[in-house]
Amino acid sequence: MTTPHPVHTVCPHCKRSVIALREQKHAHCAEHGIVVPMRSAIVNPPLIEPLPPARAA
Ligand SMILES: [Zn+2]
Repeated sequence: MTTPHPVHTVCPHCKRSVIALREQKHAHCAEHGIVVPMRSAIVNPPLIEPLPPARAA
């Protein structure tokens, strides 16, 4: 079995996956801040926070 059209909750601007509870009307996008999420396929990969530089011990 395959899922031909996976649907996720995404930011309407950049189509990145966002976390939104069902009863919430807003979600937080790392790039756009508070947005009204939409149900769609994910277009862009999520922004990856740069890791802090590792310090040599
Ligand atoms: Zn966005």
